[in-house]
Amino acid sequence: MKAMVLNRISSLQKNNAPLEFVDFPKPVPGDKDLLVKISVCGVCHTELDEIEGRTPPSFLPMILGHQVVGRIEGTGKKVGKFKVGDRVGIAWIHSACGKCKHCHEGNDNLCEKFQASGRDAHGGYAEYTTISEDYAFPIPEIFSDLEAAPLLCAGTIGYRSLRLTNMKDGDILGLVGFGASAHIVIQMAKHKYPNSKIFAFARNEGERAFARELGAAWAGNIGEVPPEKLNCAIDTTPVWKPVVEALKNLAPGGRLVINAIRKEDIDKEYLLNINYPTHLWHEKEIKSVANVTRQNVSEFLELAAAIPIRPEVQAFRLEEANEALLELKTSKIRGAKVLTI
Ligand SMILES: [Zn+2]
Ligand SMILES: [Zn+2]
Repeated sequence: MKAMVLNRISSLQKNNAPLEFVDFPKPVPGDKDLLVKISVCGVCHTELDEIEGRTPPSFLPMILGHQVVGRIEGTGKKVGKFKVGDRVGIAWIHSACGKCKHCHEGNDNLCEKFQASGRDAHGGYAEYTTISEDYAFPIPEIFSDLEAAPLLCAGTIGYRSLRLTNMKDGDILGLVGFGASAHIVIQMAKHKYPNSKIFAFARNEGERAFARELGAAWAGNIGEVPPEKLNCAIDTTPVWKPVVEALKNLAPGGRLVINAIRKEDIDKEYLLNINYPTHLWHEKEIKSVANVTRQNVSEFLELAAAIPIRPEVQAFRLEEANEALLELKTSKIRGAKVLTI
């Protein structure tokens, strides 16, 4: 099969074509696995963290990609939940142990043995992949394959982040960074909290205009002061300045949720601007988001279909994965990028 593979860790600045288009052995499903013929795979910022070594793959070469939509072409002999021809999605959660305290409490995202699609097992930048039937998700009819892809990570992690903010109707929500995840979160938040205002912070005017189109009451640059304080905020940027600025803009008791698997170190010294009374006092909180649970994926897909959420996608061919990643790195973003296989 054809695949775009990562052979070595490198910085995108030095190597602007980190993935190689190759022939790769077609995977063989185990007893509980589905063999999925991939139709599309979303491109996520986490792929940059993998390529640049902030959360490196557990082995190389690795096929990246964790927002996979396709149809089942074959099944292992113990598969009972799905059949050949069914459309399924694969998300970041590839497996967890199922036995530990976290797994028993439904927090399989926190499992020590958590395995990620496209990092600890081959993902979706290819013609085929395999997944245990327990970690595959039916895709609601109303979404095309292209629309469904960004729901599987950008949307699902956004759903988890929004829940972790403890937002209530009427609260003011800040979205710091306005990429694939935030453009879905804003649609979800407007639906769930109709009396709330949403303020967006983004470093380029294109993203700010997009936020206004989707209903942001105000959109400004990172570092700008919004018209009112934020009761909660979600940061989806890869760096630190937006975190410090968001803390400053929080109302007393406000919570900032950092939706990022890793942060880059390029502006880490900006953290020295944190001044306890301005940024932290008055019971302000910071919380990170780690991975997603299986339940998050199922619940979010159902909610996304009910609203319905309309992801805006920009399609690239599989061979163009490097271009898509480079555009993500340089912030040429409007909605989500998806590879068509
Ligand atoms: Zn992702
Ligand atoms: Zn576990």
